[in-house]
Amino acid sequence: MHRKCNCCDGIYNSFDVHFTSACDNKCAHCVDKCYEGLNINKPDVEAIVKTIVDNADGLDDVLFLGGEPCLYLEELIDCVERVKAQTDLKLYVTTSVPKICYDKRNRFEYLLSICLHYHVLHTHLELLQPEP
Ligand code: SF4
Repeated sequence: MHRKCNCCDGIYNSFDVHFTSACDNKCAHCVDKCYEGLNINKPDVEAIVKTIVDNADGLDDVLFLGGEPCLYLEELIDCVERVKAQTDLKLYVTTSVPKICYDKRNRFEYLLSICLHYHVLHTHLELLQPEP
């Protein structure tokens, strides 16, 4: 079976995991903050891993996003390790590199070594806007 099921455009086979609604940024365009979102705070690692593993057939990737998934760095590493051990899926993480990634730099670098990541540029682009 060939599924196309990512949350953005449905053109690639990605399992998009809303890992947490928590975020330390305040982007004006944020869906999680502007609307009544899913209000997921602490991720349920057991449930996330089981759901991914049980539905891995026909999928290519898993994208962990938020919110800011790295706010739960240890839970994220746990999740990535378990999914890697049980599937052949490619794993991606979006992040704007919150403070915990500097405080626990070795753990963040370990996370980067076991999955691919997208650096969330939009927060930084906002910072680069000229002062009004
Ligand atoms: S980084 Fe993402 S989740 Fe966080 S406030 Fe900005 S748009 Fe929302």
